[in-house]
Amino acid sequence: MSRPLLLEGGHVVDPSTTRDGSADVLVVDGRIEAVESDLVGPDDADRLSVEGLVVAPGLIDVHVHLREPGGEHKETIRTGAQAAAAGGFTTVWAMPNTDPPLDDPAAVGFVRQEARRWARRGEGGARVSPVGAASKGLAGEQMTEIGGLVDAGAVAVTDDGRPISDPALMRRLLEYTQTFGIPVLQHAEDMRLTAGGVMNEGSVATELGLRGIPSASEAAVVARDVLLAELTGGHLHIQHLSTCESVDLVAAARARGARVTTELTPHHLVLTETAVRDYRTEAKMNPPLRTEIDRTALRTALIDGVIDMIATDHAPHHYEEKEREFDDAPFGVVGLETAFAICHQDLVVSGDMTLPALVDRMSCIPARTMGIDGGTLRPGSPADIVVLDPDARWTIDPERFLSKSRNTPFAGFEVTGRVKRTIVAGETRYEDSA
Ligand SMILES: [Zn+2]
Repeated sequence: MSRPLLLEGGHVVDPSTTRDGSADVLVVDGRIEAVESDLVGPDDADRLSVEGLVVAPGLIDVHVHLREPGGEHKETIRTGAQAAAAGGFTTVWAMPNTDPPLDDPAAVGFVRQEARRWARRGEGGARVSPVGAASKGLAGEQMTEIGGLVDAGAVAVTDDGRPISDPALMRRLLEYTQTFGIPVLQHAEDMRLTAGGVMNEGSVATELGLRGIPSASEAAVVARDVLLAELTGGHLHIQHLSTCESVDLVAAARARGARVTTELTPHHLVLTETAVRDYRTEAKMNPPLRTEIDRTALRTALIDGVIDMIATDHAPHHYEEKEREFDDAPFGVVGLETAFAICHQDLVVSGDMTLPALVDRMSCIPARTMGIDGGTLRPGSPADIVVLDPDARWTIDPERFLSKSRNTPFAGFEVTGRVKRTIVAGETRYEDSA
């Protein structure tokens, strides 16, 4: 075991214990030992001054694509976990739409073991938890053997990248997953309404001569699935909400007692369809960026708690793939290394959200609602910690990403708030060199 670690003189922000003030944090054997003022700590402890910095529970992202196996030219489990740590994340959930997909226990086990293997070799980053496929081959027809996937380490099921289209399959998933206490993650999209669309349907799509995706493509599936969550009592988690209609449907279903949680991406929080102008493929994602009305509704829903958490939908693509014509370029943007700063700049610097509330939505709430061991600095918990400098100003430069891919819509953005150090199980997995 590594030596004890004492973080001295920091400002501790931990919404799970309602702590928001100066305190030292002592880590022993990979766990939080104590959070108190003027801790002395054992003689052999490594001491680290974090004066002027914020110490918070490590961030958690329940929606990332690490591309391995099959897409290692875009990202690997090693580079994805390291990019996550650079973004302040201590746990990420890896989506199963790899090649082959994570639809059997061996594939799920591989992802988990691979992340642990790199960590043992001193090249680890965030903890990586695999999400199993909901259907065999992600084909949307036959349910996977969920018990076997859970035994191999799957923490949820989804067909993300694609929707679970068949309502009878969704019903059975919401019933069956309750045995294992895991959520069903839904990429809500009616592919028949999307019909080859590449951006939001509306005036900007018309101006650019691009085929649009209507809001109803998402909202129609949200409407159906919240009813199924209500019917079954299962835990439905709707990924990357993008429309104001979806927000209203979720709020109404929750008011009726449905077990529905939701996430918002940093790009849907701050960007609209106008970012696509000049055929910028780095703003091409699915669901697409929508209108200012949608963006404002999503932002308000996050602040009010109708949207539970931030998730990045980190979707690395190779430069050459994103350089294609807009119609042919793949959907998706990277997000792990910019999420905290983008959200902090937009929500906290503006004064619309407190820093503790943001930490809640990026750490404590995902942990609590998804059953993740983390998201707290309570003694006895895993020592998964992020050290932040809320005052540091910097400019986003994709060339500095640890991710293998650079497809971000935020290049050149001026932001305030920076990750200084990320600690997983008491071990520093990332340290800012700037
Ligand atoms: Zn998706």
